[in-house]
Amino acid sequence: MRRFCYRCGASETEKGPLIQGLCQTCFTRENPLISTPTEIQVTICNKCKAYLVNNRWHEPSNVESALEDAARAAVLSELRFAQLTPAGMRYLHQQKVEGLKLRVEPKPIAGEIVVDVNARGKVHELQVSPQVEHVIITVKPRWTTCDVCGLISAGHHEAILQVRGKEMSAGARREIKLMLERCAVEVRKQDRAAFIAKIEEKRGGLDLYVNPTGLARRMASLLKDKFDAEISETAKLIGMDRDRGGKRKFKISVLARLPGLGRGSSGDLNNGAR
Ligand SMILES: [Zn+2]
Ligand SMILES: [Zn+2]
Repeated sequence: MRRFCYRCGASETEKGPLIQGLCQTCFTRENPLISTPTEIQVTICNKCKAYLVNNRWHEPSNVESALEDAARAAVLSELRFAQLTPAGMRYLHQQKVEGLKLRVEPKPIAGEIVVDVNARGKVHELQVSPQVEHVIITVKPRWTTCDVCGLISAGHHEAILQVRGKEMSAGARREIKLMLERCAVEVRKQDRAAFIAKIEEKRGGLDLYVNPTGLARRMASLLKDKFDAEISETAKLIGMDRDRGGKRKFKISVLARLPGLGRGSSGDLNNGAR
């Protein structure tokens, strides 16, 4: 029996095989591969440029390309691809579509990001050649303050790291400050909520207001390894945490005493270093 496309009348031998009664051309025309809104909003922190996608804050790969990173991530999370299965049409995430080729190119234009999406793939396995499609999506940034920047500007900190050494020179202070700031940057790569909220110059050293306590401890052990600092820790009860079922809340103070600096002589940090 000869079969024909019910839309255009082409015969199966000529423009087949038929899929759901449609020839290859009509099936492709009626079943676009890409499914997406044409406009997407993405929330970006105006301080650190982190962006919120899939209910999670993400750090941009670098601050200059934050808008593009945010737009790309937002588009990838919204994009769906039509897949005709025995159970009917499904709209799937790109990782779940076999043989899909996808190119997502964001370009910033006048405060928004225009994203070119090129996709190549099949909606149904009986398609002789993959569909090639192009869509343009406009991503509008919505500027706000992220969870972590909110904590920082509210002065939130779990711990105070006190660095003390008699006759600590200005150079030594600078070196220690730089080292501890670098440590915070490293830890932040794993834990966005790791930060130094504030650094205060004190007589005899520095006070660092730090989040979380683990970061203060890591900094202290760095001072111990590098400068033989003596570490001690105290916890002060500051109240109850209602959010966590009345758990007692403590403010931790970590004291790092640098011995090499206190012995008079030059006060040069390098004398204490190993
Ligand atoms: Zn047809
Ligand atoms: Zn932020």
